[in-house]
Amino acid sequence: MVLFDFGGTLDADGARWSVRFHAAYRAAGGKQSFAAFDRAFRESDRALERLSGIERLGFRAMIDAQTALLLPRLSDGAGLSPRAIADQFHSSTCAVVHRNAALLELLHSSYHLGVVYCLEELGVMRYFSVVADSGRVGITKPDPRLFQHALSCPGLVSNPAWMVGDNFESDIRPAAALGLSTAWLAPETEKPRERGIPTVRLKTLSDLAGVLES
Ligand SMILES: [Mg+2]
Repeated sequence: MVLFDFGGTLDADGARWSVRFHAAYRAAGGKQSFAAFDRAFRESDRALERLSGIERLGFRAMIDAQTALLLPRLSDGAGLSPRAIADQFHSSTCAVVHRNAALLELLHSSYHLGVVYCLEELGVMRYFSVVADSGRVGITKPDPRLFQHALSCPGLVSNPAWMVGDNFESDIRPAAALGLSTAWLAPETEKPRERGIPTVRLKTLSDLAGVLES
């Protein structure tokens, strides 16, 4: 079985939302540096968490909500089109998911695949035999029982077992502690925080097929 993290892994090659949102903001004519932008972005994150009904928002609605909270917090936000920023972010994310759908299609023929939460709106749910949704299971990462829950699903081949994710602390460390092989999707500037893990590092999720075949 190959288990995937969703956010940052299936929808981006290890790039954080703030980094990708900044790129969309610059593409729409925004002028601020990442440092200044990131302060406003963190504030918008906190405001987003307080928004009622946030857990029921779909992917596009979530992007629109974050854009609406972000722009008033940027000095040049009033002159920018929220629609242009949200469209840019949405289309660049969908392009990555679409590319990864080809990888999932390939792996799906050799492995059972699992995902720790995924958005139905993105159209890749059909590749997964098991979805470990924290909200439904009642366990959140980095609790390794969330991974155990996925691996112990009846009828699924769980050996070999891999965990693929972009967050060292919540994806990689707990999966390695359970004895899973781990693939960490992160920029090279990020250093592993424990010797011996991960099993492999990935620059792009597309490299995963070669790793599993070798
Ligand atoms: Mg992630």
